[in-house]
Amino acid sequence: MDNCIFCKIIAGEIPSMRIYEDDQCIATLDIGPASKGHTLVMPKSHYADVTDGVPEELLGKLMKTASKIGARQIEKLGAAGFNIVQNNGEAAGQTVRHLHIHVIPRYEGGPGMVGWEPTKPETAELQEVCELLRG
Ligand code: AMP
Ligand code: ZN
Repeated sequence: MDNCIFCKIIAGEIPSMRIYEDDQCIATLDIGPASKGHTLVMPKSHYADVTDGVPEELLGKLMKTASKIGARQIEKLGAAGFNIVQNNGEAAGQTVRHLHIHVIPRYEGGPGMVGWEPTKPETAELQEVCELLRG
């Protein structure tokens, strides 16, 4: 897609640190890594985000690839674990509207994890949300 930075990376029009490629996806180092080895896994075809009609099989492929990259970060970089993060929409922190999965290695004594402040809603509120989201 025109004007998509990740499509340009995939087409080789913009340089990238590619660590994996197959017929459906690539994995490349993030230019602004949260930690050493932070990698982005993305499909070669353009989808804006995970709701954009992505075929199930491709979603499975992307997640499988992300998990393999995470295992490699542990094996080769000495990471103690990794976060898989995937942002959908500007409000969720998505800055590049080409579907991608972040694989962020975490090291002993390293910076804080991807996290949130837990809240304590009343059961009635949880029930209401449950009704809204169910089927
Ligand atoms: P998100 O905020 O989930 O859309 O993530 C976009 C990510 O793409 C950010 O972590 C950026 O650092 C990364 N990024 C932007 N441009 C490039 C680029 N040319 N090469 C590699 N990573 C990039
Ligand atoms: Zn794109």
